[in-house]
Amino acid sequence: MQYREIGAAPQVVTVPDPEPGPGQVLLKVSAAGVCHSDIAVMEWPAENFPYALPQTLGHEGAGVVAALGEGVTGLTEGDSVAVYGPQGCGRCAKCAHGKENYCTRAAELGIFPPGLGAPGAIAEYLLIDDSRFLVPLGDLDPVTTVPLTDAGLTPYHAIKRSLPKLVPGSTAVVIGTGGLGHVAIQLLRALSPARVVALDVAQEKLELAREVGAHEALLSDERAAERVRELTGGLGAQAVFDFVGAQPTVTAAGAMAAVEADVTIVGIAGGALPVGIGSTAFEVTVSAPYWGSRGELIEVLELARAGAVEVTVETYGLDEAPRAYERLHQGKIKGRAVILP
Ligand code: NAD
Ligand code: ZN
Ligand code: ZN
Repeated sequence: MQYREIGAAPQVVTVPDPEPGPGQVLLKVSAAGVCHSDIAVMEWPAENFPYALPQTLGHEGAGVVAALGEGVTGLTEGDSVAVYGPQGCGRCAKCAHGKENYCTRAAELGIFPPGLGAPGAIAEYLLIDDSRFLVPLGDLDPVTTVPLTDAGLTPYHAIKRSLPKLVPGSTAVVIGTGGLGHVAIQLLRALSPARVVALDVAQEKLELAREVGAHEALLSDERAAERVRELTGGLGAQAVFDFVGAQPTVTAAGAMAAVEADVTIVGIAGGALPVGIGSTAFEVTVSAPYWGSRGELIEVLELARAGAVEVTVETYGLDEAPRAYERLHQGKIKGRAVILP
């Protein structure tokens, strides 16, 4: 499944099967998730498009080890694994902490995540450069687990940073209950005693929000911030996670944030929130994180194993993958679309 030409729809094409070189691992892909970031990527203009085309899509991948390159140890053919996407050099100080998403040398070394610069997971086979990027799945179902590599890991990282503020009596807001958002609600319920308020523009997404544990699910409109203030006795929310990231949602996120709250902008729709006396309540912290660490991926998978998160999925064959992207673009996917190549 490749994005081949700027502005054109992605296409299913036939390419040669890759072969693992020294240190590499070849996966037979069992499942690959479809993320809204790919829609954003496919809207970028030619002038500053950062990847080489064609780009095989898919940055959420799970597979079965099909072949091991020379020197790979610790894995066996047939192992079921999930792929850690935001791969780094493995040696810099960030990577040493498992924060390969913030590798200081990836750009300089030309290291890209599968599906975002390197060949991606929406394919029959996926080549992985190092076995440390693979987390064993064991008995976990790859189909419902694969979205956790991004739609789980990204909100997990964002939420974990705010847990000290999510004490009993606090409120957390999730804006956008799509792929990432519907997992975020479950993570908040599993990890904190906070009351969870979900906001979305579509009724069926609000239903999903309630099904997966939101205490309140409200329409995301120009009155949303006011409603969150009403629900919180005028104080606002202690943490707001914006999985849309457009200017109206980011502005609303700022307006519903309590004194000393965290506003985390995860969506990449270009919105920004000014910080300064009078712009938000006092001591609001605003951040825009990217994905999560290797250790955090292991933690998210443990939560799935414990039954604390369950991703709602719609499945598609490889030939139907372009339709999954169309439906995502139209806002019609309930939960996450997963391709079964
Ligand atoms: P998605 O399409 O599955 O979900 C988006 C949800 O937002 C949908 O339910 C949609 O109805 C809702 N929505 C749209 N406009 C809204 C509004 N004004 N108010 C409230 N809800 C609204 O998308 P996704 O795959 O979950 O991705 C969410 C965002 O996160 C995207 O921008 C994506 O690019 C970004 N993302 C960022 C990172 C990161 O590391 N920062 C990682 C993954 C995804
Ligand atoms: Zn993504
Ligand atoms: Zn590094």
